[in-house]
Formats: sequence, C-alpha cells, structure tokens
Amino acid sequence: VEESKTHVALLVSPGMGHLIPFLELANRLVLHHNLQATLFVVGTGSSTAESTLLQKPTAANIVPLPHSSSTLHPNASYIDIIKALMTASFPHLRFSIAAAKPRPAALIVDLFGTEALSIARELGMLGFEFITSNAWFLSLSLFYPSMDRPTIDGHVYNHEPLKIPGCTPLRFEDTIEVFQLNQQDAYEGFGGFARELGRADGILTNTWQDLEPTTLKALTEVGTLSKGKVNQVPIYPIGPLTRQSEPNLESDVLKWLDRQPDESVIYVSFGSGGTLCAEQITELAWGLELSQQRFVWVIRPPSGTDSVGAFFTAGTGSADDSPPHYLPEGFIERTKEVGLVVPMWAPQAEILSHRSVMGFVTHCGWNSSLEGIVNGVAMVTWPLYAEQKMNATVLTEEVGVAVRIRTEGVVGREEIERKVRKIMEGEEGREIRERVKGLKISGETGVSKGGSSYDSMALMASECHIFRRQRDERTDF
Ligand code: UDP
Repeated sequence: VEESKTHVALLVSPGMGHLIPFLELANRLVLHHNLQATLFVVGTGSSTAESTLLQKPTAANIVPLPHSSSTLHPNASYIDIIKALMTASFPHLRFSIAAAKPRPAALIVDLFGTEALSIARELGMLGFEFITSNAWFLSLSLFYPSMDRPTIDGHVYNHEPLKIPGCTPLRFEDTIEVFQLNQQDAYEGFGGFARELGRADGILTNTWQDLEPTTLKALTEVGTLSKGKVNQVPIYPIGPLTRQSEPNLESDVLKWLDRQPDESVIYVSFGSGGTLCAEQITELAWGLELSQQRFVWVIRPPSGTDSVGAFFTAGTGSADDSPPHYLPEGFIERTKEVGLVVPMWAPQAEILSHRSVMGFVTHCGWNSSLEGIVNGVAMVTWPLYAEQKMNATVLTEEVGVAVRIRTEGVVGREEIERKVRKIMEGEEGREIRERVKGLKISGETGVSKGGSSYDSMALMASECHIFRRQRDERTDF
C-alpha cells in the first residue's frame, strides 16, 4: 500500500495579519514539500475579510475551531481578547489533533498560540513557531529571557536603547507596543511568550537571507555570542510568504487603477485593523491633496485614541461608513480627478501589483511591508501598534526601501505632503524605487526552488518526515 503523507497541523490566531501568512505556509507545505496540512483557525468570529478568505479553495485542509464568546470587559485590549480566544480554543485543538488521521507529526503555532506548544509535546509531536514578522523582532523575543532586569527596566522606564546580541540595538522610540505601555504585566506577558519560544523545536520567520543578513547571522551562528547568549533553536527563514494576487478579480478600485498612467498612484492603507482619530484623518486628507499625487486611500471611521479599532471586524462595512462625513468639506469633490477613497477594505495584493501603483503609505504590518517589497513599491512608513515601529526601522534604515513619517502625536499635513512627494517625485524616491526593485528580485529568488527560503522550508519539512518515520517505527514494530 502507498504510504500516507506526513501530516502537519497549524494553529492560527485571530486577525488577517496571521491568517494570510499561515494559509500561504500551509499551502506551500502541501504543494512544494509533499506534506498534508490541516490549518486550525481561531477566527475573530466577526470579520468579513476573514470569512471571504476562508471560503477560497486551498491545498490545505481548513478547520475553524468553535468560537467562544468573550467574557472580557468590553474595553479589554485587542491583545487580551486574542489571548482569551486562544486559551478557550486549546481544548478543542487538543481533541481535534488527538482524533486526526494520520496522526500529525508537528504543530505550527503563531505568537499567540505559543502556549499550545505544550500540547505538541504532550501528544508526541514536534512543535514549531511561525513568527509572522522579521528576524529583528524574533531576536528581541529570543534573547529577551537572557536580558537581566535592570537592562529591561532601563529600556522600559528610562527609555535606554535595548542591546540585542549581534543585532541593531532597539531605540525606545522604535520599541514594541507592550514595552511602551509601561505596564509591568504587559511586558511580563511578553517574557512568558519569549521563554516558551526558546523551547520550540524550530522557529519559522517571514524573512529571507538577503533582507536581514546580520540579524539572521546573530540568530543562527551558534557560539559567536558572548556570555552564553546563544540561541539553540533552529531558525528557518522562509519568506517572503505573501498572498498571491488574483489575476481576474473584479473590483471598482482595480477598474479605476486601469484608467491611471503607469507608476503614478500612491496607495494609503493602515492594514486590517488600523484606525486614525478624526483630527489625523483631516490632516492626512490635506496632506494627500497638497501632494498633488494620484492616490487610493482605504479609509475607516475615526476611532478616538484606538489605533487598532477595526481589528476584529476587518473588511466589515456598512452604508453608514460612507466617507464624506468625516473628511474635510469638499475633499472628495476637489480630488475626484486624481483620487479614490475606498471605505473599510480593499484588495491590497491586487492593488500593490497593479502597474499604475508606485508608492505605498503603510502602517508597516509585516505582511503589508513584504507585499510592498515583493511588488517593488516604495513606501512611506506610518507605524501604529504592535511591533510596527521595528518594521518601519527595518524598511527605512536597514534596507532603505522607505521614508519615515515621524508619528509622535498627530502628524501634520506638511509632513505628509513632504514624505509623499519624496517617494513619488524626488531623487531620493527614485533611488528607493531602484532598491526596492532589487529586493523584489532577491525575494522571488529566495522562495523559488533552490532559493534560501525554499530550502529552509524544505529542511523544516524534512524534519517532520524524519520525525514521523521514527515515531512510526517505534509504534508499529
Ligand atoms: N489587507 C487587505 N486589504 C485591506 C487591509 C489589509 O487585503 O484593506 C491585507 C493586507 O494585504 C495584509 C493583511 O491584510 O496581507 C494585513 O496584515 P499586516 O501584517 O500588514 O497588518 P495587520 O492587519 O496585521 O496590522
């Protein structure tokens, strides 16, 4: 009889920024590496973008886990809500994996699923983590448990740069959201995740050798770091994994782009969840208008102080969302020849790959950052939450494919106009576009057969095959 394929299970937490790369990973494991994959999805339960994506045909098997209604305070942070949804899903996951045939050889989880690595150990499987971000964020996480308390307090309370062995130090102004909140339990939560991460059988990360050579060297060259600060966990850089655009997708925004000249449009979007306050929306509208560039702007109702106000409802719109209420008077009329405002959600992969799009104002979610790169689009960085300031620093300072907007407080219209013009018109913009086009090619090479990321995924897959074979030999003598 023909041997069944090695089966791997994946667990993904709520949010399009996790679901998109996990789907891509699951599909590639099946299509390129001869595995069978089941993706367990802990959804938001409320996002239209998520349900639309999950209805598309895939090579992997998709299993939504039962959704628990949250018992948290209505004002709980998005992080606490995700954590609660994940914890509630673990018993279902354990049950489903124990019943799965063939028995999965490995479980792959994301940052919010890290605790489920213990389920992998309990059920005799390999446990991998897929960090859907870059290697610099991964090094911060992996080296964090070896940092002493005064060092961490110096960063969090005295705003000193945090040294990460072998990597660029982390300035406080670029630090992750949990350190900025200045709340002990938030960063102790990060510590718990970081310690568990160090016990994984391997870590996959959505980056590639040519994008972050120094950081990856620090993570992978065991023995080069002093004072025992050596990472023992195998690292698999497998990126850029991004969603492929659908060639025949019908949409008004794509039709609008079809009518624009080549390389003339700047696309403005704050990811699946990002929201701005009313004053900031006004400044951005003026900034775009003053820049006199063609633009597509994905816009959401103002959100008070919450910069991640649409996270759980990504892609869900209603008639009341029609933009004119909260845009400056006359904006739509004055810009109708050059601009298009799209409420709530847009087909980003298709927009960024359109021939007319040349620039991208992005909140620097890592998926958006990679989508900018793989489409050769120069970026203006406008980080909002999570690790997005680190991502902005990678894009602007490490690889030079973006200019940065300074985001202390409300960003004024002149700053927005200046940075948009810089990318779309200036000499610096031209140089940046050359660099991003080079990086696009290096990313394509990385994930193609024989490329560093392709080989790295193959190596991880072969660990699963070997483990499965050894386990089968032990159990059916
Ligand atoms: N996205 C999209 N349309 C939108 C907003 C977002 O297709 O209007 C997709 C985007 O292409 C990306 C993902 O949603 O793949 C968002 O992930 P990212 O890591 O950029 O940011 P997050 O939403 O997690 O903050």
